[in-house]
Amino acid sequence: TAGTAPVLELRDVAVHFGGVKAVDGISLQLEPGRIYGIIGPNGSGKSTLIAGITRLTGLTRGELLLDGQPVHDVAPSRLAGRGVARTFQTVRLLADLTVRANVQIGADARADGGRSRRGPTGWLRPGATSPAVADAIARTRLEGFEDHYPAELSYGTQRRVEIARAIAMGPRLLLLDEPTAGMNQTERAEISALMRSMRTGGLCQLLVEHDVQMMIDTCDYVFAMNSGRLIAQGAPAEVVRDPAVQEAYLGR
Ligand code: ADP
Ligand code: MG
Repeated sequence: TAGTAPVLELRDVAVHFGGVKAVDGISLQLEPGRIYGIIGPNGSGKSTLIAGITRLTGLTRGELLLDGQPVHDVAPSRLAGRGVARTFQTVRLLADLTVRANVQIGADARADGGRSRRGPTGWLRPGATSPAVADAIARTRLEGFEDHYPAELSYGTQRRVEIARAIAMGPRLLLLDEPTAGMNQTERAEISALMRSMRTGGLCQLLVEHDVQMMIDTCDYVFAMNSGRLIAQGAPAEVVRDPAVQEAYLGR
């Protein structure tokens, strides 16, 4: 909407790996309080785009602006302090920390702006659950699992812990790379409801997802990628019907 400053703006962003143009000239703007989706066939550049936004891979060209400020030189570890949180396509929890301690890492990343050099023992505060951690655990419906270790949890529950850790950072921009991979229909619906419940605080979310119904149920606006480029964008139900999008999926 006019007058709303974008949380994130990409201007002609490209990420090439040698001759592979994984991301090849993407421009887009994300506004606060909205849920955006990215769809596209395997290998279309979705994860690389997230890696570029979170500075885990360098940009071949283009500009990245967070709240209007260029961030292409900001270290990935500093992005948490700037309000950017993400989950990975594969679960990355610390196996020898409890659910509470894993989520606490997110809260600490916000508190110290990612400047911490403490080891895992520095994150543990026995008996104490900070408000940000308690809130994230409640939102993701992880009460009762606080003292469990990741290996004791189902895959869907592990994914919820990952989301809780990201939420505990108190982000303004949350990037979720296939958070429902390996989940059943009920668990997917829960993640969808969780994401929609977080819109109210102005949180901007970007979801990479294969499940078309999940996209339609969750997202306000969808970008479709193929071969590193945007081939369609707009309302989810329209984008999934777009002939170019249909061809990208079927023409492989
Ligand atoms: P998606 O997430 O849409 O499935 P990716 O972003 O993972 O796609 O990959 C896009 C393309 O970039 C693929 O061709 C993939 O093989 C390639 N690619 C991704 N990461 C690397 C890398 N680190 N080095 C070389 N090629 C890569
Ligand atoms: Mg991917």
